[in-house]
Amino acid sequence: MLNVTAYAAASPTADILPTTIERRDVGPDDVLIEIKYAGICHSDIHTVRGDWGAQTYPLTVGHEIAGVVAEVGSAVTKWAVGTSVGVGCMVNSCRECANCRAGLEQYCEGGNVGTYGSIDRDGTVTQGGYSTHIVVDQDFVLRIPEAIDLAVAAPLLCAGITTYSPLRHWNAAPGRKVAVVGMGGLGHMAVKLAHALGAEVTVLSQTLSKEADGRAFGATRYFATSDPATFSELTNEFDLIINTVSAEIDMRAYLSLLRLDGVLVNVGAPPEPLPVPVFALFTNRRSFAGSSIGGIAETQEMLDFCAEHGVVPETELIAADQITEAWLRVLKSDVRYRFVIDVATMV
Ligand code: NAP
Ligand code: ZN
Ligand code: ZN
Repeated sequence: MLNVTAYAAASPTADILPTTIERRDVGPDDVLIEIKYAGICHSDIHTVRGDWGAQTYPLTVGHEIAGVVAEVGSAVTKWAVGTSVGVGCMVNSCRECANCRAGLEQYCEGGNVGTYGSIDRDGTVTQGGYSTHIVVDQDFVLRIPEAIDLAVAAPLLCAGITTYSPLRHWNAAPGRKVAVVGMGGLGHMAVKLAHALGAEVTVLSQTLSKEADGRAFGATRYFATSDPATFSELTNEFDLIINTVSAEIDMRAYLSLLRLDGVLVNVGAPPEPLPVPVFALFTNRRSFAGSSIGGIAETQEMLDFCAEHGVVPETELIAADQITEAWLRVLKSDVRYRFVIDVATMV
């Protein structure tokens, strides 16, 4: 076992405080990563605060991890010490089911092993990236291209892939109108990625306070959802809507914005079920769908795409002792657009 420094929550209501956690010894197929940066995802907050169900505490969260390979196991062929790498939301899956064989490990029929709060193969509860080191199977490690500064790369490992995957699956491309609901961590990446994929991008945010940023990220239109005129003006407008909102929104209003065969994809994961009025789906033969992160191959594809197209997250670097405060700001939608923990401050 390796004892490493981490920040953890002792209970659903606790602050995120320094502690020591155990990482397994580096096995033949494992990579030891020295974590340099860890992004703060709203899922970290939902998980610790119990929004999605009971957890085992203390819990270290964080699934946007950027670092450097520090040691490799005897059978590791893919990675060498010193390489810049990332880890996202999964650290293992069965590898045998149809979905795993199709490169869709996030939909592993037996359930993937999440980077934190999951039962690992050895029976322990996985602990995430708010930490100085992590040990991960070589197949669940991603290469961070040189063109992407490690200090801003971490949010790609969740916010990036979670928006890239549905944009690709539902064909965000030239000639297609895409709306992004909520411009926080996931939302700002959805805007940048949909624009880089060639789609015409509209932001639907609670207010117009971030309009200049949205346009700089590639949106050509920007509307406040607090203004009812937005919904009448945009009725039957979009091919694809990506909803990144972490709370309940009025599905009838947002579904009304889809044109024929349009799809509203929920990536936001509010604690309560979202009521979907079926009559809003009948009109225009609309679909309501969900999407979860992305597979390992697609995550690498996304990282390479971002390097090629100069797509990088907008980040605010914080020290580890500011995590609790940063969480409060995320909860107030006061994030521009992803907090990233400088792990060098964790000593
Ligand atoms: P975030 O940074 O907090 O962004 C959410 C945005 O939603 C906010 O910035 C805000 O945007 C808008 N919003 C928040 N509360 C709202 C409300 N009550 N009504 C309307 N709009 C509201 O969170 P995130 O890290 O991007 O994560 C977003 C959601 O996706 C979370 O629920 C998270 O758990 C989930 N998630 C899912 C997956 C997946 O695989 N499906 C992966 C990662 C995260 P504006 O200020 O622009 O209105
Ligand atoms: Zn996440
Ligand atoms: Zn599987």
